[in-house]
Amino acid sequence: MIRLAQKGAVRLAAYAPTKKVRALSSSSVKTSSVAPGKLLLKAIRHWASPEYTRIVLELNGSVPFSTGSLPGDAGKGIVPRIYIDLKGAGIASGIDQRMVIKEGMIQQVRVGKQQNNSTRVVLDLAMAGEYKAFALKGPDRIVIDLGTRKQAVLEANPTEIRSLPTAKGDPIAKVLEQTPEERQPQVRLPEGGSNRLRRIVVDAGHGGKDPGAIGPRGTLEKDVTLALARVLAKRLKKEFGCQVILTRDKDVYLALEERTAIANRVGADLFISIHANASKNRSVRGVETYYLNFSKNDKAAAVAARENGTSLKQVGDLEMILFDLMANSKINESSRLAAEIQSSLVGNLGRHYSEIKDHGVRQGPFYVLLGATMPSVLVETAFISNKTDEGRLKSSKFQGRAADAIVAGVKKFAKASRMIATK
Ligand SMILES: [Zn+2]
Repeated sequence: MIRLAQKGAVRLAAYAPTKKVRALSSSSVKTSSVAPGKLLLKAIRHWASPEYTRIVLELNGSVPFSTGSLPGDAGKGIVPRIYIDLKGAGIASGIDQRMVIKEGMIQQVRVGKQQNNSTRVVLDLAMAGEYKAFALKGPDRIVIDLGTRKQAVLEANPTEIRSLPTAKGDPIAKVLEQTPEERQPQVRLPEGGSNRLRRIVVDAGHGGKDPGAIGPRGTLEKDVTLALARVLAKRLKKEFGCQVILTRDKDVYLALEERTAIANRVGADLFISIHANASKNRSVRGVETYYLNFSKNDKAAAVAARENGTSLKQVGDLEMILFDLMANSKINESSRLAAEIQSSLVGNLGRHYSEIKDHGVRQGPFYVLLGATMPSVLVETAFISNKTDEGRLKSSKFQGRAADAIVAGVKKFAKASRMIATK
C-alpha cells in the first residue's frame, strides 16, 4: 500500500541563506487549463512566514506520491531540497517549471517531468527544516507543511511581526500590521512569558461557493458562522486585549487548508473554527465541540465527512494516516479547550434557552484542524437543520450569547494554562 503521509527532515547546518527573508507572503495561485482523462498537477499554492510554510499541490484526481529530502552543499552552492514525486501525473499547461518564491523557508519551486511518466516537484529551501506531506480529497490535493525546529519567532516576538513588510493586498499581513487596541483588556495578562495569550484566530466556517449546511427555511451555514465569528472576535478582543484574526470577514471561499495555514502563519495561540451542525433527523438539536483525533463513533465520522466535503470512506482513509499527522498537534490542550467551550456553551445558553442539549466533546479527523500547531477546536453551535435552532442561529441575541459563552470557555482554559493571570 502506498503511504499517504510522509515526513522527514532535511538538514545542513553549514548552509546559510544569502538573504534573510522576513516578509509574510500571500498565497499565490498558478492555475491552468486541464485536458480531461489525464492525471495532472494543475496548480501550486503557498502560504509562508519566516518559520512556517504550507505548499499545496492541486491535482485533478487521486495521485500516488512519495517524498524525499536531499541535503545541501554550501561549498557547491547547493541548497537543501525536498521533492515530491507524483506517480503517473503530468503537468498542466501554464505551470511554470520554476517559480521563484523567496519567502519564509522556500526559495523556489521547480517542476519537471520524470522518465517514468511521473512529475517531480522540488522545493529549494533557504534553510533546513522538517516537513510533513499528506493528501486531501474533494478536490484532490497534496499538502506539504514545512517548519523550522526552533521556537517560532512569531510567538516570541509579537512586536517584530507587526513591523514586517506586507505583501500587497494580503489581509492577514494587514491585520498583523495593526497596533493592538488602546483599550485596557478586562483581564490581567501575566507579565512577559512565552505562554501569554497574544493572538487568537477565529474561523467562520464555509463561505463563497461553499454554503455549508442549509436550514429548512433556507438559512445558510456560511452566513450564520460569519455573523457569530464577527461577534466572537470583537468580544475576545475586548476580554483579553489580544489580537484576534478572522480567517474571513466577508462571504468568500477559503480552502480548509488555507484556514489552518493562516493560524500557523500568524503564530496563533488558539484556533477556533465556528460551524453549525446538521442532521437528517430534523428534530436533533444541541451543542457539540470537536478537536482533532480519530473519530470514536459513526456520528462523529459523519460530521467530519460533511465538514471536510468528503465521503465517509475518505474519512476512514484519512484516519489511517492520522497518527503521523498529529505529531505536532496539541491534542491534550485542544481537548481541554473543547471541554471548557462546550460546558460554557451548554451552561450559559441553557440559562436563556430550552433544549440546549449537551452532545459533549467529540473528536474527529477534520481537515480544517490538520496541521494546526496550537490548541484548536471546531464548535458546532446548534443544528441549522432544526427549525427552532435555525431561528436562533440567525438571531443576533443568540449569536451574542453564544459568543459570550465561548469567551468564558476560552477564559477558563487560558487561566488554567496560565496564558492569562489567574487572579
Ligand atoms: Zn460547517
